[in-house]
Amino acid sequence: MHIPFNLPHLTGKEAHYMYQAVYNGKLSGNGEFTKRCQRFFEEKYGFKKCLLTTSCTDALEMAAILCGIQPGDEVIVPSYTFVSSALAFVRQGAKIVFADSMKRNPNIDAEQIEALITPRTKVIVPVHYAGVACDMDRIMEIAEKHHLLVVEDAAQAIDSFYKGKPLGTIGHLSAFSFHETKNIISGEGGMLGINDERFIRRAEIIWEKGTNRAEFFRGEVNKYGWCDIGSSFLPSEVVAAFLWAQLEHLDDIQSKRKQLWNKYYELLKPLADKGRFHLSDIPKYATNNAHMFYLVCNSLQERTTLIKKLKENDILAVFHYLSLHSSEYYKDKHDGRQLPECDRYADCLVRLPMYYELTENDVKQTCSVIEL
Ligand SMILES: *Cc1c(COP(=O)(O)O)cnc(C)c1O
Repeated sequence: MHIPFNLPHLTGKEAHYMYQAVYNGKLSGNGEFTKRCQRFFEEKYGFKKCLLTTSCTDALEMAAILCGIQPGDEVIVPSYTFVSSALAFVRQGAKIVFADSMKRNPNIDAEQIEALITPRTKVIVPVHYAGVACDMDRIMEIAEKHHLLVVEDAAQAIDSFYKGKPLGTIGHLSAFSFHETKNIISGEGGMLGINDERFIRRAEIIWEKGTNRAEFFRGEVNKYGWCDIGSSFLPSEVVAAFLWAQLEHLDDIQSKRKQLWNKYYELLKPLADKGRFHLSDIPKYATNNAHMFYLVCNSLQERTTLIKKLKENDILAVFHYLSLHSSEYYKDKHDGRQLPECDRYADCLVRLPMYYELTENDVKQTCSVIEL
C-alpha cells in the first residue's frame, strides 16, 4: 500500500467555520476568528501579543522590520534551515553570517555563536529544528551580553518547550508556520509572536500596511492614516476560520503524532544501536512535539540507497535542507567558512512519513523495509 510522506489532516469543522466566516459579513483580516486564534496562543502559552500572518515567511519579514535591520547589519542564522529564516532579513539588506549545527542535532551550535559576533551584528535567529528547542538560555545570555535581539524561527515548534517554557515565548520575537506540512495547518499561514512589549504598537502598524487601522478599530483614535512602512501581512477571516478548527483539536493532534513518533523510535532504536544510523537526540532541556521523524544515515550513499529502497516499496521518505551557505544565491556572499555538521545533515538526514492519518501498521511496514 502506498504511504505518502505527508497528508494534510482535517479535523472536520474547517468548512463549517469557513462558512461562518463567509456569512459573518466581514471577510477581510483582523475579525472574530483572527482574534480568537490570537487569544488562544496568548492565553495558552503566555505571548504578550500574537498577530496572524499569511505565512511564517511574512512573520519573519515583520520581525526583520521590527528589529530595525539596516543595509550591512549582520544576522546570525544556522545554514541548515529553510530559506525564509535568512531571506526575510536579506530583504531588509542584512548580511547573513551562517552558523553550523550541533553534532547531536541540526540546531544551531550555541557555543559557536560568540565567535561570529562583530560590531555590526544585530540579531540571532535560532531555528528549533523538528520542534526540538535550541539551547535558549545560552543564546539569550549571549544576546544580552552583546545587546542583540533574538528572533525564534518556531515554524516547526508549536506546542513544544524549553525547560518548561513554550518555544516562541523566549526570544524578543518569534515566527510560526501553519503551512500544510506543519502540525497545525491553514494551507498557507503563520503568526508573529511578540514577547517584548516595545514592539507591539509598531508590529500592528506594519501588519496593516503601515497604518494605525488596528487602533482605529479599537476606538483608540478617531481616524487612521499612514504612519510607517509595512505591508498587507494579515490573512483573511476565511483562513483564520480554518485555523480555528485546527486549534480546537491541538491536543488530539499532538498526542496522535507523539504516539506515532514513539512507535517509530521503539522499532528503530535497535537498528540505531547497531550503528545503522542515528536517531534524533533530544536534549534534557527540550520536549518533542513530533513534528518530524528523521534518521541521520552514515553517508550520502547510504541515504540514497535507503530512500530508493523505501520508494521501491511505495513509501515516500525525503531528505531536507541543502546548506544555505553554499546555495546558488548565497555562495558568493558567504565568507568561505566550512560548516561541516550542516553539510552532514544536508547529505545524510532523511525524514520518514509523519501525519495524523498514518497508522501503526504503516509505521511497522516502513520500519520493516528500513530493516531489510
Ligand atoms: C516551514 C518553515 C518556514 C516557512 O514557513 P511558511 O509558512 O511556508 O512561510 C520557515 N522556517 C522553517 C524552519 C520552516 O520549517
